Amino acid sequence: MTSYPALKMLINGEWIADGEAGSMDVVNPATGQVIGQCPKASPAQLDAALAAADTAFVTWSKTPGAERYMILRRAAELLRERAPDIARAVTAEMGKPRAQAIGEIAATGDVIDFLGEEAKRRGGRMIPPRSASVIAQMVTHEPVGPCVLLTPWNFPVHLPAKKIAGALAAGCTAILKPAENTPASAQLLVECFTDAGLPKGVLNLVFGDPGPVSEHLIAAPSVRKVSFTGSTAVGKHLGALAAAGMKRFTPELGGHAPVIVSKTADLDRAVAACAATKFRNAGQVCVSPTRFLVAREVYDKFVAEFAARAGKLKIGDPGADESVDMGPLAHPRRIAAMEAVVADAGGNRGEIVTGGSVITGNGFFFQPTVIANPAPDSRFMTEEPFGPIAGIVPFDAIEDAVQIANSLRYGLAAYAFSSDLDEAHYLGRSLRAGMVGINQLIVSSPETPFGGVGDSGFGSEGGEEGYLAFTDTKLVIMAKAGG
Ligand code: NAD
Repeated sequence: MTSYPALKMLINGEWIADGEAGSMDVVNPATGQVIGQCPKASPAQLDAALAAADTAFVTWSKTPGAERYMILRRAAELLRERAPDIARAVTAEMGKPRAQAIGEIAATGDVIDFLGEEAKRRGGRMIPPRSASVIAQMVTHEPVGPCVLLTPWNFPVHLPAKKIAGALAAGCTAILKPAENTPASAQLLVECFTDAGLPKGVLNLVFGDPGPVSEHLIAAPSVRKVSFTGSTAVGKHLGALAAAGMKRFTPELGGHAPVIVSKTADLDRAVAACAATKFRNAGQVCVSPTRFLVAREVYDKFVAEFAARAGKLKIGDPGADESVDMGPLAHPRRIAAMEAVVADAGGNRGEIVTGGSVITGNGFFFQPTVIANPAPDSRFMTEEPFGPIAGIVPFDAIEDAVQIANSLRYGLAAYAFSSDLDEAHYLGRSLRAGMVGINQLIVSSPETPFGGVGDSGFGSEGGEEGYLAFTDTKLVIMAKAGG
């Protein structure tokens, strides 16, 4: 692929370029230029996708797990083969540096493999009966039915793939509606599944305005599960719609991850890891380390070294220069959000140590920004920034740091650096989050569950939980015919 692909939806096995509800521009955030036209599905086209998923469920749900696995495994192989081209689309659509895009795709292949294997591995269980007349009590995991998968732009291959692989492995069919600004990434991913031999209708892809499309799809009686990754506000709205139809709902929402750096931590290692991870994907990561709570004894050194590293990052168009560390933000609304956070800091609400400004030009670039000692009630400390902004706050007692870390309604990821074993155990137990990383900032792997608590959502993706999330638990009790 040398240029941006022609965009098409997939409905009942047919690739469709004609959006009956019109089309929308796809913009390269590094240049501000329109690079494609994305078709928008009409209600009739959405209904066709719903009908296809409903019909295909009858046979796909009965297809043996080993056969489902073979198709998923082939899809993962194709994804790896096509990684160079797919990475180019990811970079063009949302500005991720190429190495990070390639890394995202490699991790995605592993997730598809793992969830595909679950289709072969995961049986039910037998429970000993209480009565001699009962022969067996069997618990099985049945596919829930057709699923609606709603995904964002920050990991435009990985997040759709996690949902698709969990659903398909479990025997569900699906309709994917990816973010409006990253349609090609989703399309190229879906092509890997169709080229792997997936029967028509099992996976459908539609584009369009997120509100009306989601509402139409969630309201359909055939849909039994909704899986959404995105903001807390939208997640609450979609959760209410799913609840009205008594549909299963998995929300993976925002976060504002704290990082506690104890005075016992290996400081050089902690600073290097924090600065490298904070600005990855321009900070547009739900588990991005963001609120740094640093022991007063090492605070000044941490601030100086973290800010120095942030200030040295190479910023630019990752489509034109593969060596950039940080690309643009995904769209102009993220720039406005960063400006609002920075405008609220300053004065006694915090000191901007480095960055703080828009980088002028055609793209949507914002400087890597470090705020020292932001006020507890500042926007930075209370709202998810979802961008290249870090705040650093000193603490005296480790219990105070835990209290600050746990003070928000978010609870996705939390991190701590400590070289004291007792303290590390205390931090692991005390931090309120779905995922806690001690002395490391990676909390996502194919084998482990990924999910949050509180305003960060509930349920998990990845790991065996990522398969079970698409199943209903069923009990069959068999007694002797003669009593
Ligand atoms: P946004 O709310 O405009 O869009 C975020 C995503 O939600 C997009 O994919 C969009 O298609 C979808 N969306 C928006 N309204 C919707 C609706 N009514 N129904 C269904 N889907 C809808 O925000 P943004 O500025 O693009 O992104 C920043 C915000 O999104 C942050 O607050 C962040 O928490 C959240 N976000 C979270 C993740 C995550 O991994 N949890 C990923 C991306 C964005």
